[in-house]
Amino acid sequence: MTEPLDLLIIGAGPAGLSAAHSAATEGLSYLVIEKGTIADTIRHYPVGRTLFSTPNELEMFEGALKPCREKPTREELLSHYVHFVLNHDLKINTGEEVVEVKKLADSFSVRTTQNEYHAARILFAIGAMAHPRHLNIPGEDLPKVHHLFVEPYPYVRRDALVVGGGNSAAEAALFLAEEGARTTLAIWREDWENRDPKAGAMKHWVRQPLEQQIAAGHLRVVLYNAINTITERDVTLTSEEEETLTIANDVVFVLIGSDADLTLLKKLGVKTEPGKLTEVPVYDPETFETNVRGIYVAGHFTHQRHIKAAIDVPRRVVPLIAQSLRSSVAK
Ligand SMILES: Cc1cc2nc3c(=O)[nH]c(=O)nc-3n(C[C@H](O)[C@H](O)[C@H](O)COP(=O)(O)OP(=O)(O)OC[C@H]3O[C@@H](n4cnc5c(N)ncnc54)[C@H](O)[C@@H]3O)c2cc1C
Repeated sequence: MTEPLDLLIIGAGPAGLSAAHSAATEGLSYLVIEKGTIADTIRHYPVGRTLFSTPNELEMFEGALKPCREKPTREELLSHYVHFVLNHDLKINTGEEVVEVKKLADSFSVRTTQNEYHAARILFAIGAMAHPRHLNIPGEDLPKVHHLFVEPYPYVRRDALVVGGGNSAAEAALFLAEEGARTTLAIWREDWENRDPKAGAMKHWVRQPLEQQIAAGHLRVVLYNAINTITERDVTLTSEEEETLTIANDVVFVLIGSDADLTLLKKLGVKTEPGKLTEVPVYDPETFETNVRGIYVAGHFTHQRHIKAAIDVPRRVVPLIAQSLRSSVAK
């Protein structure tokens, strides 16, 4: 066991990094526990991907992120976050997963894959990527089926199917088609016809080149009702006209979203509610404290899903945590 901490932060994404910096500024004893690497979610974006957001929505300090173009790539953003950690010497244990959080009389015990810690306050900054959604159909466990898209280059001149209606699926289909994969995008009509950015419509700068690939005959769009089975050689689906289509296939990308893992929070007694896209913890919108005193949340698995809020919220919340710790010492 280690020295008791003021604040233990779970997750080193933009929210966890911002919280760590605020904790250091407040003079708190803190530690970030990260099961993967620094900014692991961003590290898993497709190689070379350009962000949708502009630098002011992503950077840790005004003017600190200087991309070559208007918007940064995955690599530029990742490097920015890594250097933020290095320059501020933030305390982060990577490759260590939090597996249990227990409430004690006036603190918490945290068990990880490597150690046990005690902390007065816990901030969950765990993101929403823990459980990629599955189609739950026969063949989905074949090695050719992926729930994450990293790069198109292994699939040049291969038959690729992408399933999904959001930006991740659209981008994967675009990158595959551009780099010579014979690509099919299977998408529901309501997603294909959705033009409302507030309702999760494909970004126009993704749709435009996607439509060019369709016009050039490099990409086929199939409006479907159901994907039925995946075998080594093909995929069988039901089109929206209720036709059964069997499509030759070498690789499948199922990119239909992902869900946070709320198990640790629920075991602590934190209440949840239905969010816009998925289940979210219940918390005070001012303090981001949950119904379990001393347990706070920030980032992608709350109602504030984008990077800007993931950075901004801990800057408001950590000083409140510091204040509450100071007033509990004064009592
Ligand atoms: C392909 C893609 C493109 C995107 N593009 C954009 C964009 O252009 N602009 C934008 O604003 N947003 C974008 N997003 C969303 C963006 O990535 C999230 O808003 C952002 O990562 C949220 O930061 P976070 O710190 O809340 O969560 P994350 O960055 O997901 O960080 C959570 C961290 O917690 C760690 N963790 C989870 N559980 C545990 C545990 N039990 N123990 C230890 N560590 C744990 C995870 O490994 C992870 O590193 C995109 C998302 C994807 C998937």
